[in-house]
Amino acid sequence: MHNTSAVERVQVVVVGAGIAGLNAARLLAGKYSVNVLEARDRVGGRLQNHYFANGDSVDVGGQWVGPGQKRMYRLIEALGATTWPLYDTGDNQLHLAGKLRRYRGTIPRVNPVALADLGLVMARFEAMAKSLDPSAPWQCKNAARWDAMTLDSWLQKHCYTSLARELFAIGIGAVFAAEPREISLLHALFYARSGNSLETLLAVTGGAQQDRVHGGTAGLCDIMARQLGERLRLNTPVDGIEQLADGSLQVRHASGLVQCDRVIMAVPPNQALRIRFEPALPAWRDMLLQRMPAGSCIKCIARYDKPFWREDGLSGQVASPAGPVRVTFDNSEQGKSSGLLMGFLEGDVARHYSRVGPEQRREAVLDCFARYFGEAARNPQEYVDKDWSSEAWTRGCYAALMAPGTWTGGGQRLREANGQIHWAGTEFAVEWFGYMEGALESAERAAAEVDGALQQAARAHSRESAVACGG
Ligand SMILES: Cc1cc2nc3c(=O)[nH]c(=O)nc-3n(C[C@H](O)[C@H](O)[C@H](O)COP(=O)(O)OP(=O)(O)OC[C@H]3O[C@@H](n4cnc5c(N)ncnc54)[C@H](O)[C@@H]3O)c2cc1C
Repeated sequence: MHNTSAVERVQVVVVGAGIAGLNAARLLAGKYSVNVLEARDRVGGRLQNHYFANGDSVDVGGQWVGPGQKRMYRLIEALGATTWPLYDTGDNQLHLAGKLRRYRGTIPRVNPVALADLGLVMARFEAMAKSLDPSAPWQCKNAARWDAMTLDSWLQKHCYTSLARELFAIGIGAVFAAEPREISLLHALFYARSGNSLETLLAVTGGAQQDRVHGGTAGLCDIMARQLGERLRLNTPVDGIEQLADGSLQVRHASGLVQCDRVIMAVPPNQALRIRFEPALPAWRDMLLQRMPAGSCIKCIARYDKPFWREDGLSGQVASPAGPVRVTFDNSEQGKSSGLLMGFLEGDVARHYSRVGPEQRREAVLDCFARYFGEAARNPQEYVDKDWSSEAWTRGCYAALMAPGTWTGGGQRLREANGQIHWAGTEFAVEWFGYMEGALESAERAAAEVDGALQQAARAHSRESAVACGG
């Protein structure tokens, strides 16, 4: 690697200032010297605020927190932030065969055969998910069989009506930003269990879509960044990590080198693969990261002068097998007069609309909003969308997926450190994998590993010093 005079020395380098990297740094900063190196000109990674022309802001990345995400609620409180519940009042709508039907709850009223089919397949899925331990999904009795098939192959076998399959796929799209054929059945079951249950992941009130954070989730990252002060470097992409002969690690970034004892990698798996390690990462680690592709999602938001759909008794929540926007929510900010409708383009649809121009995408999305909420929805005051697959330092979302054969063919070692390199980020979580809560959990684990290792090294050092002094 290059020699440069700008070599700094700290105990810990954290690569990536998403919510995981920031949390890991925050947990270690009181005790050790820490640098956080972030590629972008902002913190937050998959969390970002968009500012409308009228000054209002909205999350264009991750936004919801819900019951069971105890670390997130603790962090929100500790940083002096507050939450409010997503608007979940009135009727939801199912857009099916060109018609809109109103319903309440997570399961729409459709023909009784499809409804029974959907109910049975959901119950079966939940029971299977419950049978596994999220800290070791590969150890469950059926792990090999479930990891040998996709969620789609399983659905083809156990879901008898095409309508139930379509409705299930809407839920899967909303939860994974992927098609059922892309995901290992074992991973789908693990993911649901990791966040309690599929029902929890799908629900608004009482579920993963319950609460929003005032000031946006990116606001939490901004506060953590301020607390870290000069330890945080923006516009500092890391491109190499080298093991030195004296036992230190040398991290190469855009404007120099940092030597340290430990590194916490807090970047998405696909980004870790773009960094050059010397010596190279073990083959199993590289192969594992290669087999964790990200989902595909474009988050689309239209701003109106008011949430006009509420006057018609509508919640703003729509499910539509035809799409292209297959789910929508009332994303209006508490205390603001504007009405915000938000919809996701996911999986195949996201990949298609990532290729077309922004005008065509906007038209397709607003066309959907108009179909679901009437012509008034066609002409918002402002429209914004965010294609996370086009973001250089993310390249897909909400999170990485496990393809068949991954959990049982190397996934067992996912959270293991590679020497002095530790792994954090939502993809390395046991609980709430894929969510902000998972990112916090992974950071706690990685920070504890680093703390343990540095304490052990300090003890060994003081023993050696005592011996050298004849003590
Ligand atoms: C549209 C969308 C909706 C979502 N909805 C929700 C939701 O409602 N609730 C929820 O809990 N979660 C949601 N998520 C998921 C959530 O955003 C993520 O789980 C979480 O933000 C991941 O945090 P992280 O720190 O693990 O990774 P990231 O946020 O990806 O952070 C990684 C950081 O590393 C940086 N980086 C990458 N490469 C390098 C490099 N070489 N050198 C230096 N820095 C680098 C990146 O710039 C980034 O800042 C959503 C995500 C998206 C995109």
